[in-house]
Amino acid sequence: MPISALPTTASLADRARAALDRCRVAAPQEPAGAGGAARSPITGRELFALGHESAADVEQAVTEAREAFAAWRDTPAPVRGQLVHRLGELLREHKADLAELVTIEAGKIRSEALGEVQEMIDVCDLAVGMSRQLYGRTMPSERPGHRLMETWHPLGVVGVITAFNFPVAVWSWNTCVALVCGNTVVWKPSELTPLTALACHGLLMRAAQEVGAPARGLHRVVLGGREIGRALADDPRVALLSATGSTAMGREVAPRVAARMGRYLLELGGNNAAVVAPSADLDLVVRGSVFSAAGTAGQRCTTLRRLIVHEDVAEEVTRRIVDAYKQLRDRVGDPFAESTLVGPLVGERGYAAMRSALERAAAEGGQVLVGGSRVLEEEAADAYYVEPAVVRMPGQTAVVREETFAPILYVMPYRTLEEAVELHNGVPQGLSSSIFTQDQSEAERFLSAAGSDCGIVNVNIGTSGAEIGGAFGGEKDTGGGRESGSDSWKAYMRRATNTVNYGGELPLAQGVSFL
Ligand code: NAD
Repeated sequence: MPISALPTTASLADRARAALDRCRVAAPQEPAGAGGAARSPITGRELFALGHESAADVEQAVTEAREAFAAWRDTPAPVRGQLVHRLGELLREHKADLAELVTIEAGKIRSEALGEVQEMIDVCDLAVGMSRQLYGRTMPSERPGHRLMETWHPLGVVGVITAFNFPVAVWSWNTCVALVCGNTVVWKPSELTPLTALACHGLLMRAAQEVGAPARGLHRVVLGGREIGRALADDPRVALLSATGSTAMGREVAPRVAARMGRYLLELGGNNAAVVAPSADLDLVVRGSVFSAAGTAGQRCTTLRRLIVHEDVAEEVTRRIVDAYKQLRDRVGDPFAESTLVGPLVGERGYAAMRSALERAAAEGGQVLVGGSRVLEEEAADAYYVEPAVVRMPGQTAVVREETFAPILYVMPYRTLEEAVELHNGVPQGLSSSIFTQDQSEAERFLSAAGSDCGIVNVNIGTSGAEIGGAFGGEKDTGGGRESGSDSWKAYMRRATNTVNYGGELPLAQGVSFL
């Protein structure tokens, strides 16, 4: 039996208002235009009306961000880091408030919502460290009396487009790093998560006031639909557009930015797989797979969607995963309830995509082994709660090669590691991957250039739940961007190569003589 008592829409609206008010500064930025609304997938209903902005608001926001850039660019990077340090402190203080909004707007269970805010706090710490480490290199010059070096400078206005499923963490990956690098930010959050966006903006503005950073124009939120994203893509003053969402979105945004010679950073859809070798520790496989495949109701970019299992262990692995999924059936429901592991899908579109994928999988020779049903329909007719599904597939058919943003795990057999890698790489997307094996040689082959073609390649853990210290992103239709850790800050800066002549002579490079 799923968890049946759901909170009322009115109580969710009250909780959302209260959490938002605690995060904002005295004069909140309220969008003026009509037509928007805050909603919750918990009941599928509107919480309250909210302003909706237009392309003209983007124009104004970019103008202000461009003006603020001049002063922010000249602020020393470690001083810029103090703003992000203060933001990190405020996030610690308001962790519960932001998590509350993430649960209300994105439907994440409490522990995952708190985890997402923790990720923001971790990113703040990382970005503060970066603010003292925006290193350039020096190279030996071929000319006597010369010094050759690289310096890194801010880009200007960074536009950030984010998806509903990580409504705060992805903002922080981009914004904390962009700010310490000396950029100003205009953010277009998902139209499904405006309240979390206003709360993040409120906390950042409070941090700016407290550390004496220029509050006006340093960061702006523009609420609205894809027309806002398009306006950001087309504005030549937006030096970098960092866009996170579906591959379909990236396909439209990237050519628009490229047409004006702008820069873009894309974090798009995934279709992530794990290979289970015969030597694998099956306890790890089951726990790692169930969390990666069913967690967040299958709505992570890194969700495990394909399990490629060696035929010697396929039956046992499938049986154990199906058994684990049967336990999940009682744990679908109100994401605020302690016992819930699977909250709602974000909306009707996700549910329709899941139904259609299951029908296509059956038509392509698949067999649903567990799950797939909608539950709690009587309690909340406008909300979409589903039992996560496991589908046995004869091979990698057309539906398996697509990302369906819902909890469906396709299980397929393999015989040789070469075959497993071919299946693994045989999809358009390239975000996250894993191999479960106790055989070091197999693990190394999967990690090598001839192995997984993804941006994230793991051994003996699932595909989801990445740490912020590593660069995050994927290849092929996932867009090729890298955000968060390692040297991904370089995407938010421009590089200048400098040659300094302190020798008093003027030797030319490559031995050229002239005059
Ligand atoms: P979506 O593409 O529908 O929307 C994402 C954002 O892009 C929203 O703010 C939306 O308003 C905007 N947008 C959509 N179409 C646009 C257009 N044509 N021009 C400009 N802006 C546009 O995605 P979603 O449903 O919110 O999120 C789920 C998708 O995001 C999945 O495909 C998931 O894999 C992907 N995702 C990827 C990552 C990653 O880091 N790789 C992280 C989170 C989500």
